[in-house]
Amino acid sequence: MKTHRETERSLCGPALRLPGFPPGEVWLVGAGPGDPGLLTLHAAHALEQADVVVHDALVDEAVLRLARPEAEVIFAGKRGGKPSASQPDITRRLIDLARAGKRVLRLKGGDPFVFGRGAEEARALVAAGVPFRVVPGITAGIGGLAYAGIPATARETNAAIAFVTGHASSGAVPDNVDWTALARSASVLVIYMAVKHLETIVGRLMKGGRSPDEPLAFICSATTARHRVVVSTLGAAVADRDAQGVEAPAIVVVGEVVRLREHLGAWWDPAGLMASGEMDAAAE
Ligand code: SAH
Repeated sequence: MKTHRETERSLCGPALRLPGFPPGEVWLVGAGPGDPGLLTLHAAHALEQADVVVHDALVDEAVLRLARPEAEVIFAGKRGGKPSASQPDITRRLIDLARAGKRVLRLKGGDPFVFGRGAEEARALVAAGVPFRVVPGITAGIGGLAYAGIPATARETNAAIAFVTGHASSGAVPDNVDWTALARSASVLVIYMAVKHLETIVGRLMKGGRSPDEPLAFICSATTARHRVVVSTLGAAVADRDAQGVEAPAIVVVGEVVRLREHLGAWWDPAGLMASGEMDAAAE
């Protein structure tokens, strides 16, 4: 007998069985960096079933368009300068909606557990006794690099990679990161939320021994119609950020892997895809 937890999907044929979305549950889902094709099957299936979608500012419009037309779509993000929902208000809302019997899709940019406060929300759901599921997503530091033609690792360049945030909840550069140790230990650094405090961050990395000539890239609005890559160096990054008008959201990647872009090229070009119609929805 088929239970409500098992529905068949036509996307990959009858062999694929994905769990149904029971009313009263919250699903904490990663939306990936932007391109809807980077959603997981679980995420796409959840969008088709959810009664309510509560999303962050980073979730691309092209992804939100995949929600059911009847679904209520609630923006719960933080947008620079404007008053935004507080974290306790967001979790309270998720809990209330679930208790009202809704299928609640909490959609977060990238992966919900990578610098996305998903852990805090999951803990609040556990404390409230609300059943939930976590659906990982492709984080911007992986998907964005790939679309920029920068491999996260390559045998000739790095055996380690570190994901770092350049922005603590206080708003400052996190002081629980040992930047000197990081500079010495991880040959490739993928830094989230680094645009604002770039000067401090690159300063600490160079102080920790990294060369000013080391390649660095900004990957802005990765995998969306606004996708843009600016290649620089550690020493020139601040000047290039200002001269080129680099804006958040952006991933900053530091390390020799950036040079591999010269070989891979800009294989993913949103302008070309728009011409072909593939990115029409995202460009609207
Ligand atoms: N959970 C998200 C990260 C949230 S923190 C993830 O896994 O990707 C917010 C930061 O993520 C942004 O400031 C930026 O550094 C990065 N980011 C998220 N989406 C991005 C995108 N499409 N392009 C570039 N950077 C992105």
